[in-house]
Amino acid sequence: MDIEGVRGQLGAEHDRLQALRDEFIEGGLTSQSEEDSLAELSSSAQHQADIGTETFDRERDVSILEQVEAELADVELALRRLDDGTYGTCEACGRVIGDSRLEAKPEARFCLDDQARAERDVRGPSRSS
Ligand SMILES: [Zn+2]
Repeated sequence: MDIEGVRGQLGAEHDRLQALRDEFIEGGLTSQSEEDSLAELSSSAQHQADIGTETFDRERDVSILEQVEAELADVELALRRLDDGTYGTCEACGRVIGDSRLEAKPEARFCLDDQARAERDVRGPSRSS
């Protein structure tokens, strides 16, 4: 595996995600501030319809921000694992993740099997089974 290439790729992704997050935060958005901002809005003299639109936009932005922060955490973790030599192995079972998967998703933490299992756990048991 081309460790230095991966490091460069992850570093670039890290910078991109961090810039994206900073943009959101400079725009006054954090993933925890929703309640405060809504309180501000309802005390203002804004028209009800405008508040509705604003709430929708804010909820969408918060969920994008949360996704960016989660990806950033994964990238940071991958960079740390590059340093300590555990990069490229599955966190759950310890098997090698595989170059083709890492090329597609350099910040991957799990092998395909464990990734699928983790996603099933999040979504809950499937109704078709
Ligand atoms: Zn695994």
